Amino acid sequence: MSQHVPTVDGRFTDLAISPKMQERLAYLKFINPTPIQAKAIPIALEGKDVIGIAQTGTGKTLAFVLPMIEHIARTKKQGLIILPTRELAAQVDEVLQKLANAFGLRRTLLIGGAAMGRQIAELRSNPHVIVGTPGRMNDHIQEGRLKLHNVGVVVLDEADRMLDMGFAPQIKKILQHVPRERQTMLFSATMPGGIVSLAQAYMKLPVRVEVAQAGTVSERVNQELFIVSQDQKLQLLDKLLKEYSGTVLVFSRTKHGAKKMCRAIRNMDHSAAEIHSNLSLAQRRRALEGFKAGKYRVLVATDIASRGIDVTNIELVVNFDLPDNLDDYVHRVGRTGRAGKTGHAISFITPSQRSKIRILERMVRDSLKVSPLPELPPHRAALQNQHAADAEASFRERGRRPFRRGGYTPGRRGHSPSRQANRSGGRRQPRVHS
Ligand code: AMP
Repeated sequence: MSQHVPTVDGRFTDLAISPKMQERLAYLKFINPTPIQAKAIPIALEGKDVIGIAQTGTGKTLAFVLPMIEHIARTKKQGLIILPTRELAAQVDEVLQKLANAFGLRRTLLIGGAAMGRQIAELRSNPHVIVGTPGRMNDHIQEGRLKLHNVGVVVLDEADRMLDMGFAPQIKKILQHVPRERQTMLFSATMPGGIVSLAQAYMKLPVRVEVAQAGTVSERVNQELFIVSQDQKLQLLDKLLKEYSGTVLVFSRTKHGAKKMCRAIRNMDHSAAEIHSNLSLAQRRRALEGFKAGKYRVLVATDIASRGIDVTNIELVVNFDLPDNLDDYVHRVGRTGRAGKTGHAISFITPSQRSKIRILERMVRDSLKVSPLPELPPHRAALQNQHAADAEASFRERGRRPFRRGGYTPGRRGHSPSRQANRSGGRRQPRVHS
């Protein structure tokens, strides 16, 4: 496991955790806790409810997984971890696996798009830890397969995102089945009003711990903006992909856009994969694994799919489109500059979106640099227009002289100079360009 993430001076051995956990952490080479771990773990070990405000890449998964395992090992209760996306759930399950197996704890991962059979079998064996997304969890609850009366610890991870995705009613339904006597931990990168209400509804006197102000972007991320028209964005991307040499995560606002962009990037001769909710879980997994393994240099993602992307060496994040929900800017940008590394985030802003810059600046509590647009190679459509304009100009020239036989000017069908010339008695009417 990575040791690049910034840690504090204290050591895990200073924390009141079991010898077995100490052993496991040493084996995984986790020596010093990260700031969120140093703050949240002691409180969580006391059994208190915790609200953790932490940026992505700060080690927050271990901050809740560690105390949850200790709790379960001690009380023989079950743990429930609810997350917004399949990828994120799978990633938390990976961390769990590294720790929970040593304690003889069984897990199940309840996510949509994955085979039901395995989940049903795992539920039959009464797992100690249940990780999943709200929709699939509710499916299992409805079918009477998922019983939550023995749950003693609940984690709501990426809670702000779950609210954005409209999961509040689903979370409510799930928590109705969990005993009130329990420990609840909530983790979120931002702290909008909805999270406060969620905490009031489901938590008991939670202790709030925070490692960076809610909504801030790591100082290690160099943020830059370009004002660029929609039809020049691809050329700008092309230029950036040549300028940077490392892995690049590109955000598209829509699934359709992600697909088209992925194709365009491949045409620019870069290996690229796409990740969005139109793909099956297996396809999404392949894309993410391929990106992690270096098979694809560029990953094009939509916001929903991006949450689970824990890749530590993304050099550049490109916001090809601004997110619909500007809060997502922070999450997107948090994909680079992870685990102690320096990152770059470049956003494309169309001229009509200029007013959004102020909002972004307020969100990240920093001024954002607008870079001058570099000289861009003409776009295909622009090239075509140019051709037409050149043809027009040369035709106008010729129009003053007798028309040259057999002369050819590229143009739209039906607008060929000879036809125009014929219709206008040898003189071409000026054409209006839109
Ligand atoms: P997370 O924010 O939970 O996604 O973690 C980000 C990265 O930090 C993951 O790659 C973890 O393996 C790594 N990490 C978490 N805790 C520690 C730690 N105490 N020491 C070193 N690396 C860590």
